[in-house]
Amino acid sequence: MGLNEQRVSSYLRSLVAGVNTQVPVRTGGYVTAVNFDNAATTPPFCSVLNEITAFAPWYASVHRGKGYKSIITSDLYEQARQTVKQFVRAAASDMVVFTKSTTESINLLAQILAFDSGEKLILATDMEHLANDLPWRRHFTVDYVRLDAYGRLSMKSLEDKLKQHGGKVALVAVTGASNVTGYLNPVRAIACLAHQYGAKIFVDGAQLVPHMPFQMNTGNPAERIDFLAFSAHKMYAPFGTGVLVGNCRQFTQAEPLLWGGGAVDLTSQQFIEWDAPPDRYEAGTPNVMGVLALIAAMRTLADDLELIHQYENRLITALIDGLSGIAGIQLYSVPASGDERVSLISFTLDGMEHGLLAQILSEEAGIAVRNGLFCAHPYVEKLLKMSEQDLHYYHTHEDAAVPGLVRVSLGLYNTRQEVELFLRTVRHIAANRSYYCKKYQAALRDRGCTSRHSDFC
Ligand code: PMP
Repeated sequence: MGLNEQRVSSYLRSLVAGVNTQVPVRTGGYVTAVNFDNAATTPPFCSVLNEITAFAPWYASVHRGKGYKSIITSDLYEQARQTVKQFVRAAASDMVVFTKSTTESINLLAQILAFDSGEKLILATDMEHLANDLPWRRHFTVDYVRLDAYGRLSMKSLEDKLKQHGGKVALVAVTGASNVTGYLNPVRAIACLAHQYGAKIFVDGAQLVPHMPFQMNTGNPAERIDFLAFSAHKMYAPFGTGVLVGNCRQFTQAEPLLWGGGAVDLTSQQFIEWDAPPDRYEAGTPNVMGVLALIAAMRTLADDLELIHQYENRLITALIDGLSGIAGIQLYSVPASGDERVSLISFTLDGMEHGLLAQILSEEAGIAVRNGLFCAHPYVEKLLKMSEQDLHYYHTHEDAAVPGLVRVSLGLYNTRQEVELFLRTVRHIAANRSYYCKKYQAALRDRGCTSRHSDFC
């Protein structure tokens, strides 16, 4: 690969605000923070902050004023839909609805599809984030595509389920990339199968869209992604915007998720006349700043996504290689090649509780990772081979420590030096497990930290 890693790394790091922030460590000094929790949320691009500042003097209400600033603001807001469509190669007939998050987008889609008079069965999968599971459970009967022995999606199970339900599946809801294992799902092949059996496909793009170029349309209708959702705060624009893309215009029977001003035409105390989509689904004052932040981030990412994918894959491959050589580390993924994953991986260290390891990494070396079940509880429960009895026990014993994983998730501004620091620190912790366990368990007891809840998401 002809990639000058040092040059690419410096360039990508220069795009992001706050990369040199100092944080305290237990030794009493300060170190440059290492953020390996980018799957949760990402820091802002400098371009995003500049955009917000440049636009601030023009900020006014969207769609509700005849004032000059209001007209400018409304135009920018409406034009943003087109930029989003280009970014994900949506079809001309697709519509962009702005929400506050992927979670809200999926709740909205579930609400919209529930009004469609067709089938009431959804096929989700065993590896979904709860955002792509619970909203479906609320409105539909849900069946789950199973995993293979490595925790990847089983294409055989998908086909079996589609066959078994004999054309009754309304939608296959699948994540583009897992927020637990980093696996990329073959969404084009899944789309072909879903369409073959008369179902549509929704892709949860929260962990996919920030990391590589993604096209809803390739020119082959069988492969088309019907609906897509993602969050701006995972793509360097943390100002409260989410996106739902798809042909929602056809669902003219659907009521909105949020009821209120901005979503209606003439309304009285006797009747409600809903506005046409997308306005119908965007009640309340639109978050223009958040949308412009997203657009600025898309402009920054657009030309570099292939480079970012290659760069991040080099780093995650080095990190996985390093972790697999440490005695006592269990990786929750096959060491798949870069092309089959995004830049995150989960693991455990034998003999050390996941929350404790995350705490030690933070307090000893200023490295932020995530631990727990990452809001993908059924997936982590399956990866950890928890039985129904185990789950019942944890469910009924509030104080029992629930098993979980530690996750590292890299962003485009992370560096090889940070990966090396992380590996050195994990190696040291693994080699001195009982020392660290004693030191931190005593400290945690002194601070009265016994709650398990912080580890859940
Ligand atoms: N899906 C996936 C795969 C995710 O990783 C997340 C966030 N962790 C979500 C959905 C939900 O995103 P948000 O919190 O922005 O709604």
